[in-house]
Amino acid sequence: MLRELIDWVFPPECGGCGNTGTGLCEGCLPRGARIGFRLASLDGTALGAYEGDLRRAVLALKSGRRDVAEAFAQRLSQLVTAGDVLVPVPTTAARRCERGFDGCELIAREIAKRTQATAVCGLIQTAGDRQRGRNRVSRLSAKGRFRWRGEPLAGKRVILLDDVATTGATLEDCARVLRGAGATVERAIVVARA
Ligand SMILES: [Zn+2]
Repeated sequence: MLRELIDWVFPPECGGCGNTGTGLCEGCLPRGARIGFRLASLDGTALGAYEGDLRRAVLALKSGRRDVAEAFAQRLSQLVTAGDVLVPVPTTAARRCERGFDGCELIAREIAKRTQATAVCGLIQTAGDRQRGRNRVSRLSAKGRFRWRGEPLAGKRVILLDDVATTGATLEDCARVLRGAGATVERAIVVARA
């Protein structure tokens, strides 16, 4: 009810193309054309390539658009089955504060609402900034960026969730931490593949 009122007063604009009507219009989400990719120890699936409208939509998510997160969740739900345990890659506390929410965490929780999967948001980023992990110097100190503070994961099969996969280094870092907590981690799902 409240949401309907807000939509009426402030009609949502598509995070991709800017058309009025929805958080993310059908035209801006690639239909069925998913991208599979292989990382060192993970099989990844992306909704599409990090370019054009999908890239703009991801940037809208990063700027704090909850409706875009919900639209991504709806599409990513098709990659998840009942009983899956989803763990989102966390953003830094500073960014979370700036935007008011963590985009990947919100996507994971929305997917859990739509499926019989569980979202467990127990990864924390201990220091530094995710994007800075891309340069040569900080990549050397990138290990140990993430920590698990959630429940023990022994015997659990976990799927990692992130917005954009570039080199896959962040996903691999997170997978290592989750394995340390006892989980089996073989898959990652992301919105876009750069
Ligand atoms: Zn659009």
